[in-house]
Amino acid sequence: MSTTNPNHYDVIINGGGMVGMSLGIALARAGMRTALIERGPMPAQLEPTFDGRASAVALGSSHILEGIGVWESMRPHGEPILDIRATDSDTPMFLHYDHTQVGDKPFGWIIENRHIRHALHEAGSKLESLDIIDRAAIDSFETSETHVTVRVKGHTDMRCRLLIGADGKQSSVRKLAGIGAHEWSYHQTAIVCTIEHTEPHHGLAQERFLPAGPFAALPMTGNRSSLVWVEPEERVQLYMELPEDEFVQEITERVGGYLGDIRCTGPRFSYPLSLMHAKSYIAPRIALIGDAAHGMHPLAGQGVNVGFRDVGVLAELLIDQFRLGLDIGSSDVLEHYQRWRRFDNVTMLAVTDNLNRLFTNSLLPVKLARGIGLWTVNRIPPLKRFFMRHAMGLVGDLPDMVRKNT
Ligand SMILES: Cc1cc2nc3c(=O)[nH]c(=O)nc-3n(C[C@H](O)[C@H](O)[C@H](O)COP(=O)(O)OP(=O)(O)OC[C@H]3O[C@@H](n4cnc5c(N)ncnc54)[C@H](O)[C@@H]3O)c2cc1C
Repeated sequence: MSTTNPNHYDVIINGGGMVGMSLGIALARAGMRTALIERGPMPAQLEPTFDGRASAVALGSSHILEGIGVWESMRPHGEPILDIRATDSDTPMFLHYDHTQVGDKPFGWIIENRHIRHALHEAGSKLESLDIIDRAAIDSFETSETHVTVRVKGHTDMRCRLLIGADGKQSSVRKLAGIGAHEWSYHQTAIVCTIEHTEPHHGLAQERFLPAGPFAALPMTGNRSSLVWVEPEERVQLYMELPEDEFVQEITERVGGYLGDIRCTGPRFSYPLSLMHAKSYIAPRIALIGDAAHGMHPLAGQGVNVGFRDVGVLAELLIDQFRLGLDIGSSDVLEHYQRWRRFDNVTMLAVTDNLNRLFTNSLLPVKLARGIGLWTVNRIPPLKRFFMRHAMGLVGDLPDMVRKNT
């Protein structure tokens, strides 16, 4: 694409969340002229009040973040996950993963989203080939044989060889491209907050499957944990408005005693939960990544991890094509991307959806079946090791950035 016209880009990415920013950095570092369009004001995304979540960043994802040069500044904010314990409140069965059973590396790290965003913005804003255009949204686009013309209100028309939708579950790129989706609401909402506690967590990520929904306590730096507490949507307002002491009491009952005395250190956030899977990840000169292609239940902490794997794969394919002087928006490349990523994403969508259904079902045969399932995985070492490596993001057809490090 012409480098003389400032409005001509190799790639335009719509959506500057964690996934869109990561791809922008990967492509711009390889010399592609990239524009990143973000609806909101970028500085707001870095505020602690913007996103109260912390993400479980799997070991495999850390290799991708390392590959794009941002891991070093994120890593100090991450707490290594050394053990994972999942319990079923209705049966005495539990599952315990210990990282030493698969090597010396942690399963991943719990990092506050604001620190991930901050590291990405810091790296992205230093790249000459990356233009970040915030407070802007695509109105429409037109695709021709050779390029896409993108219209953004208040801006001169822009052009690119490839348009990427990284604009979340309600992706406007997906909708404007006429790509349908399978989607449903879980009628559940996740309440998220950060707590401080008197006892150390020892790197343990604990998930309790309660009848109302999963409840996770994820280890953060210091004596802190991030809670993800899923409840049916109609009960959430009540919990969100509880006086502080009653709220802490509800949390304490769910955590159990292992963290000692608890106090909340910040505001409560709530996130309605739904599943969305785009019927296609591609259209002529268009590709979808991250939640724009697949949004899943957070119970396995995998949403942004599969998004980072999209980034790893798409960056690898596009950079190879770019270095050879070939068309980065060609249908061959896009079809390759879709073939490569769809199976992994479908698997994760199905696993998270089924686990949520299984553990919120109170029928006796279902309770027995899941008890047997937990017991089986816990007692059969090769099966257990497979699931542990899966949680680390090290299973499947991985992009080079992950494969080279494992
Ligand atoms: C409670 C909870 C806990 C979670 N925990 C984990 C975890 O531990 N580990 C994990 O891997 N995943 C986790 N996830 C999932 C993870 O947060 C998402 O998968 C991830 O945020 C998706 O990132 P994204 O960049 O694809 O999309 P988004 O975060 O949705 O970002 C999309 C961006 O596009 C912008 N945008 C939207 N529309 C437009 C438009 N029309 N024009 C321009 N810009 C637009 C938005 O402003 C936003 O900045 C969790 C999710 C929830 C709800």
